[in-house]
Amino acid sequence: MIWYPYQQMKTMKAPYEIIDAEDVYLYTENQKLIDSVSSWWSVIHGYKHPALTEAIKSQADRFSHVMLGGLTHEPVRKLAEKLQEWLPGDLDYCFFSDSGSVAVEVALKMALQYYVNRGDWKRTKVLSLTHAYHGDTFKAMEVGDDEDYHFILEAYGEKKDVIHIPTRIDALEEAFARCHEELNCFIVEPLLQGAGGMRMYDISFLRRARELCDQYGVLLVFDEVATGFGRTGNRFVADLVLPDILVLGKALTGGYIGHAATIANRKVYEGFYGDDPEKALMHGPTFMGNALACSVALKSIELFQEGDYLSRIRRIEEITKREMAGLEHEQIREVRVMGGCVCVEVKDGAALQGYQQFAYERGVFSRPFLNYLYAMVPYVIGEEELVQVLGVMKEWFVRG
Ligand SMILES: *Cc1c(COP(=O)(O)O)cnc(C)c1O
Repeated sequence: MIWYPYQQMKTMKAPYEIIDAEDVYLYTENQKLIDSVSSWWSVIHGYKHPALTEAIKSQADRFSHVMLGGLTHEPVRKLAEKLQEWLPGDLDYCFFSDSGSVAVEVALKMALQYYVNRGDWKRTKVLSLTHAYHGDTFKAMEVGDDEDYHFILEAYGEKKDVIHIPTRIDALEEAFARCHEELNCFIVEPLLQGAGGMRMYDISFLRRARELCDQYGVLLVFDEVATGFGRTGNRFVADLVLPDILVLGKALTGGYIGHAATIANRKVYEGFYGDDPEKALMHGPTFMGNALACSVALKSIELFQEGDYLSRIRRIEEITKREMAGLEHEQIREVRVMGGCVCVEVKDGAALQGYQQFAYERGVFSRPFLNYLYAMVPYVIGEEELVQVLGVMKEWFVRG
C-alpha cells in the first residue's frame, strides 16, 4: 500500500497513472499531458532527455554508488569542480546529500556549528521569513512557516529558536537591531517563496540583508532548492547577492534522481578547518555524492550552459506576461509572473476546486494548492505548448 504525500488517504482522489514520459509530456493510458509542474519544479530539460539518460546508463555500467566515507570517485569530484567554477564568488565547498530538506538541515547545522567552533554558544537562533518553506524534516519545518505544520508549534510549545519576519526592510532592520547577538544565520528563499504561495519580492530586501549580515556577523543562507537553475530568470539569485551558504536541490539533477548540495564559502569552510577533530562537520548521508546523481547533474549543467537557457527562460517570461495580461476576475486576487513561474492567487481556495480534472481533460497536468494556481514549466517547452498551459488557466476563470 502506498501512503501518498500531503494527502488524507481516505478522501484522496485516485492519482493519474503515468505509463510513459517524454519531453514536456506525461502519458496516461488515454491522455497526453503537458507537465506544468515539472515534477515539483525539477524536470527542467523535460523527460527522457537522451543525453541525461545516457549519462546515467554509462555510469551504471561502471558503478551506481559507492559511499563517500573513505572513498571518492570521478563523477563526484567533477561535479564539485564544476559547481566551484560555475557558482559565483567563493561558494567553493560542496557538501552533497540526497534531498533538499537534508541539504537545508546541513546548512542550519553548519551555521550553528560555525559559531560553536569559535566558542560562541549564544548564537542559537535563526532568522527566517513568514510563509517560508524549507522542507519537511523537523528543523526545516521549524524554520519554515507553513500553516499545515503549525501543529509542531502546538506539540512543542513556543518556537524559541526561530524568528520570522515578513519581506519588508523595516522588519528586517528591526529584527537585526533586536536579536543580532543571538542569530547564527538568516535563511531565505531568495526573490521567490515557492511552497509558501509563489510570493515574489524585491532584490533590495536581499541587498539590505547582506549588509546587515556583514555588519553583525550573521551568516546569510540562500535556499535555492526551488529558485536555483534559472527559475526566477536569474541563473541563481546568488549571482545578484552573494550568500555565505547556498542550498541547491530539485533541478540539480534535471529531475532525474534526488540529490542536493549545501555549498559554503571560504569563511564558513575555514570555520571548520584545523587540527581539532571535534571541529569537523558531523554529517554524512548514506547516498551523498551518489555516482548516478552526480553524472546526471554534470550533464544537466552542461545542457543548461550550452542551451542558452537564460534566453529560453526570458522568452517563457515574455510569453507568460503577454498571455496573462489583463486577466481579471472577481475570484482573482493577483496574477504574478517571475522568470519561469506564474501564479494566479485567488481569494478563496474553493475557486480552484476541480481545476486539476478540468486541466487534465484539456491536456495539462496541474496541481494547484490552497489559493494558488501556478505553472512552473520545463524550460524546453515550445511556445504553442506554453500558450496551451496558460490558456487552460485563463479558460477556468472566463468559462463562468
Ligand atoms: C522543495 C524544497 C525543499 C525540500 O526539498 P526536498 O528535496 O523535497 O526535501 C527545500 N527548500 C525549498 C525552497 C524547496 O522548494
